[in-house]
Amino acid sequence: MIDKEKIRQGVALLLEGIGEDIGREGLQGTPDRIARMYEEIFAGLDQNPQEALSKTFEAKQCGIVLEKDILFYSVCEHHLLPFFGKAHLAYIPDGRVVGLSKLARTVEVYARRPQIQEQLSTQIADALMECLKPKGVMVMLEAEHMCMTMRGVKKSGAQTVTLATRGVFADNRCFQEEFWQMMRR
Ligand code: ZN
Repeated sequence: MIDKEKIRQGVALLLEGIGEDIGREGLQGTPDRIARMYEEIFAGLDQNPQEALSKTFEAKQCGIVLEKDILFYSVCEHHLLPFFGKAHLAYIPDGRVVGLSKLARTVEVYARRPQIQEQLSTQIADALMECLKPKGVMVMLEAEHMCMTMRGVKKSGAQTVTLATRGVFADNRCFQEEFWQMMRR
């Protein structure tokens, strides 16, 4: 569980650390605002995707199911700055499918934690494999990282793309090809 008092103390220290006057009007409510905001943007720490993915439906002989352009917002665990973009999730059911909104929900559970994009892709792929037991899963994330664009190398608009493949998507390039074709449509 999130400890809001610790966050408030931490933010006050951080502001003092950068030389700010934490008593000035604009900053008075900031530690508390951030504590409440963190409760929301890190809510995924207390959630588990099995809940979203537990209700499945029978489906016979399905091809690839692709849910694309799922918007997500996450926080880079190295800099605590946002990274955000789109997730594209594909799976090939083996007799069971899940409600489409649950795919987006799975992305959200893992995105609302301190993260790195590589790990976010693999956690989503592994959760889908574990809960749906499909023939295969492919997860592609494309995101812009504020720690790249507002500091350091300042590459505005640079996109980081990560892929995670499982099952037949990892074993057979034909399925990956079909994924790319469906993405272009
Ligand atoms: Zn970063």
